[in-house]
Amino acid sequence: MRKKQFKAESKKLLDMMINSIYTNKEIFIRELISNASDAIDKLYFKSLTDNSVGIARDEFEIKLDVDKDARTITVSDNGIGMSAAELESNLGTIAKSGSLNFKNENEEETAEKDIEVIGQFGVGFYSSFMVAKRVEVVSKAFGEEIAHKWISEGADGYTLEECEKDAAGTVITLYLKEDTETEDYSRFLEDYTITELVKKYSDYIRYPIKMEQTHTVPDPEKEGEYISETAVETLNSMVPLWRKNKSEIKPEDYNEFYKMKFMDYQDPLSVIHFKSEGTATFDSLIYIPAHAPFDFYSKEYEKGLQLYTNGVLIMDKCSDLVPDYFSFVKGIVDSADLSLNISRETLQQDYQVKIIAKAIDKKIKSELKKMLKGDREKFETFFDTFGVQLKWGVYANYGADKDNLKDLLIFKSLSEGKYVTLDEYISAMPEGQEQIYYACGESVDKIALLPQTEAVRAKGFDVLCFTDDVDEFAIQMLMEYDGKHFANICKDELNLSSEEEKKELEEKNTAAKDMLDEMKGFLGDAVTAVKLSDSLGSHAVCLSAEGYVSLDMAKILSQMPGGSQGMKAQLVLEINSKHAVAEKLFKLFAEDREKLEKYTKILYGEACLVSGLTLDNPTEFADMLTDLMV
Ligand code: ADP
Repeated sequence: MRKKQFKAESKKLLDMMINSIYTNKEIFIRELISNASDAIDKLYFKSLTDNSVGIARDEFEIKLDVDKDARTITVSDNGIGMSAAELESNLGTIAKSGSLNFKNENEEETAEKDIEVIGQFGVGFYSSFMVAKRVEVVSKAFGEEIAHKWISEGADGYTLEECEKDAAGTVITLYLKEDTETEDYSRFLEDYTITELVKKYSDYIRYPIKMEQTHTVPDPEKEGEYISETAVETLNSMVPLWRKNKSEIKPEDYNEFYKMKFMDYQDPLSVIHFKSEGTATFDSLIYIPAHAPFDFYSKEYEKGLQLYTNGVLIMDKCSDLVPDYFSFVKGIVDSADLSLNISRETLQQDYQVKIIAKAIDKKIKSELKKMLKGDREKFETFFDTFGVQLKWGVYANYGADKDNLKDLLIFKSLSEGKYVTLDEYISAMPEGQEQIYYACGESVDKIALLPQTEAVRAKGFDVLCFTDDVDEFAIQMLMEYDGKHFANICKDELNLSSEEEKKELEEKNTAAKDMLDEMKGFLGDAVTAVKLSDSLGSHAVCLSAEGYVSLDMAKILSQMPGGSQGMKAQLVLEINSKHAVAEKLFKLFAEDREKLEKYTKILYGEACLVSGLTLDNPTEFADMLTDLMV
């Protein structure tokens, strides 16, 4: 029979499986059982509306058989089965190949990378090749007459032929590899190994996982003697983890379940397990991952929780159950109140779903609040990964949810360098501070270098560092916190100077008006004004913004698809009136206008650099500076 080739990516993955040094080879059993359970789910689901299925709920089962002599393990199910075409497409290609972003061919592949891939994607069926040298799949799709046998001995391909099989379902036989010095494959042929693995990984599977077990028992006829007794036993407890009582569940159980179910290689950061009785009755098990899901930042990522009704999965990613700002959570909701045949569209309108979603939202928020109070370090780890999400939540849910979310926001404090909540910031405000000061920049270090920080810090006021693009937008939505308004130190009126000082500055500006207007003229549309300032400390110049849009918002808007849409910052070039450069400018205004133009442009260029703006014409700037030197 002609061998068919695997698709390139599948072949690569298979190669990886076959040669894997992945220590967790035992997971193959959980992968096969989970596939079997999914296949039964599908047929059971069908049986609810299709009488021709003819199998009762309690007749569905997964069977395990071990043959020590032949060195085989067999996993059978009476689920939906696969047609020839499905065998080819499901087992010949990796279902998720699109997201399997293999490292560059030339790149040296290290064992760690393999493990990462295995852990991250949960490679399903192919994991059999970690322990088997030959895999046979006999399957008959429900509703079809003919069964098929798929055989592969690894990466060089597979064969497919017709065969006999009575009922719909799938039988997968693994021919174990020979033991090596470092790897004991034979252990998988022991009853107790299989029993332990099923308990560890697949206990919650809702269908019985049965295996013939042999025990030594006392001989009922001859006292003092023993006989072997063989019986088919169910290895799993079948109660889904989320339906069990919290007191029966160990933390490892939660973690193992999470890793298996949501294909993560790391334990979750937090587990929220709760039952609700009342307006909506449901069990739910929600996880906050320790890191962003691998495809979190891609278009393909879908938020949502698995939705079950009475233990039957009705939707894999029900997005209506979680708000966007919690799109990273994983979990399960099992409600008795939902119809099995509910569609995505009707779900959206469903009153029950709305109530459940609300309850879940509240639970996650309170869990995070608890973490913030009780385990600051953990919360900060969380925030480093998902804080941006919460900030987008504050921004996008103006008026709706910001009140709850805002208490979960933390920002790096300029004076302490560590995270503070808005509450903590306000509590630490010295007498005389009326506003919450913030500055935007790439990092705390860069913000610390801004000329504007000097005056604020001189007063003993702290500054919140906004290092994410969304920060200032979110804060604009909040407007105030606990009665205190936010002030961007590069834009807003900071009220740092006394009335007297303000008056003095105003007079200086009025006196210098002609020169400042002329300088503004040199710069054209780049700025809306040139002004003298008294709050720049030792620095000569800076750029500030007037009006609603800050410099940083403008920067971000200009990078958005579709451009800034007219949202431009109105920039003001501020010159330190107490700096020697101011004197020089006055002198040039009186004596040499040509030079004044040059100096103005240089100062503007400097201010742009300080603010992290790119220069429109860097060459001109460099030439002018060099001219000054020679
Ligand atoms: P995944 O289960 O993550 O989709 P797998 O590689 O484990 O990836 O399986 C690929 C596909 O093969 C499954 O999605 C399913 O359609 C099919 N499949 C695997 N095992 C079975 C089975 N026992 N019965 C029916 N279909 C199966």
